[in-house]
Parts: sequence; structure tokens; C-alpha cells
Amino acid sequence: MASKPKLAVSACLLGKKVRYNGDAAEFRVLNRVWSEHLELIGVCPEVGIGMGVPRPTIRLVKGEERISLVNPKNGDDFTDKMLEYAEVQSDFLIASGISGFVFKKDSPTCGLERVKVYRGDNPQAERNGVGMFAKLFTTLYPHIPVIEEGRLTDPRQAEHFLARVHFFDEWQTIGNAGWTARKLMQFHAEHKLFLLGRSPEAKRALGRIIAQGFDNNERPETVALTYMTVAQKYLSTLTKPGRIAHAMERIVGRLPNMSKEDKKEIVQVIHQFRQGLLPRSAAMVLLSHHINRNDANNPIHNNFVAPIPMDMGLMARV
Ligand code: SF4
Repeated sequence: MASKPKLAVSACLLGKKVRYNGDAAEFRVLNRVWSEHLELIGVCPEVGIGMGVPRPTIRLVKGEERISLVNPKNGDDFTDKMLEYAEVQSDFLIASGISGFVFKKDSPTCGLERVKVYRGDNPQAERNGVGMFAKLFTTLYPHIPVIEEGRLTDPRQAEHFLARVHFFDEWQTIGNAGWTARKLMQFHAEHKLFLLGRSPEAKRALGRIIAQGFDNNERPETVALTYMTVAQKYLSTLTKPGRIAHAMERIVGRLPNMSKEDKKEIVQVIHQFRQGLLPRSAAMVLLSHHINRNDANNPIHNNFVAPIPMDMGLMARV
């Protein structure tokens, strides 16, 4: 059996009682349902730097030269400790082979966006910060897919994020044995319909990156890393049903031995998915059926149809 993709997660989202007040903030569907298909690795940076549980609340404070992580009651500054921990822990997680990170929203340590930042004595905060750990992680490793748990409550965002994680995981598994130009071109070719359905711009840009990288005699590892960094940047924008439907139609057009009636039927179902009248699972199940009958071993088709397992239940909700 293939190993499950590893996902780092803010530990409080996994039900660990590590929050400042001794509570957890379990994100149940991730911790209890999706976890069947993922290996979840909990990380609590505030506990990691020795703050303990319970602990005083901390906040991001903007000064003249930098943003600091501070206990507003007594001025204790945790910035340097957190930055040092974040660097070591990020390296450790990458070495462990994670394929994504789910962060707790609104946290001055873990939040990815719109985190409160205070200035001086002003009790009004601006919501334009990034948690200190999350900021360092995403700066050091921009090729890893990341998201806040708040966004995962939307099935479309959840499906898209998990598809990005599986795309990354496959790239990582292949790359573990060393990259060559041939392997990277094959990976790109086998994911072209996946990319077309998620980001047509990415498909084009990534083809150029491979061509230019090898024209310039760059090391295959360097080209592969640039490839994934750019891919995840494009893929961070949510796809639309129309794009997925277009990629489905491309597959139908490529399947040999399909009768006219079968084609007509599936094109109608895809169209109903595009219009929002049917969930994606309806079109995908029918498409899988025809792929299995016609072209079962083509990885291009399979990478598109099943980037995440059907029984996660998300395909029926997007
Ligand atoms: Fe720990 Fe981050 Fe959760 Fe805060 S948000 S309790 S730092 S894991």
C-alpha cells in the first residue's frame, strides 16, 4: 500500500490541549475523517519554545524596525526564541517529508493571514499580519502547500488544497530517488490535465520553466524545486468548475472506442456539473467508468480523476 502523505498541523487543531488557556481547538473532519488518508504531525510552536500550558497570551507588536511577539502584560519578548525555533522545526518537518501544513487561523504564531498586529499603546489592532512561525515557514519553504483551517470548512477549498497536497506528495516521492530532466518532463506530462483543470496558466508557465532550466544547464534538483514553487504559487488560487469541466471534456475527446451515445451522455453530465446542477462526483464516476473501460492505465487520466480519494467525501460536495 502506498504511504499516506504527511501533513503538519497546528497541534491544537488535532485536539491537543495546548492553547494558552489549556483548551484544544479540534478541527474534527481533519482529525477524525481525512486523517484516514493522511499522516498528521502536530506542532505547537508556543509549547515548543517552552511557554507551557496554560500561559499568558502573546501578540504581534509593530515597532520601528520589526514586528515582535510580545506578552503585553509585562513586555516579555519571545521574538528571537520563536524565530530560532521556527527555523529548526521547519527544517525538521521538511526532512520528515511533509507535503503540506494546516495552520490555526488568527494566532500570532500560527495564523497565515489577517492576524492582529498592534502598534504602541493603541488598543486597536490592524488585521494585516502573519503569525511568526507561519511567516518563517512559508518564507523558507514556499513550495509547500499551506492553508488555514478556517478555509477548509469550504468543501471547494478543502478539495483543492488536498489535491495540491497529493500533487506535491507525488512530486516528492519521485524526487526522493533523485531528479533527472526526463523524470521531470514525464511528471509534467502526466499531470498536464490535472494542471489544466486547476490552473491553465500554471501548465504553460511550468513547461517554460522546464525548457529554460535545462537549456541553461541548471541542475535537475534546482529545476524541480523551481517547478514546484511556481506550481504551488499558481495553485494557491482556487479553481473553477468550468476549468475542471473543460479538462473532463478533453479526456472524453481522447478516449478511444467510445460510442456516440456514451459520449453524448457524459458530455451532458459534465455540462450539468459546469452549471452547478450536479456535483463533481457524478461526472467523475461516469468518467472513471469510461476510462477504466478504454484507457485504464493512462496516468494522465488517473492523475486528473483521482487526485484525492473519493471516500474523503469532498467530490460529492463540490
Ligand atoms: Fe499552539 Fe499554534 Fe495552536 Fe497556538 S495556534 S495553541 S501556537 S498550535
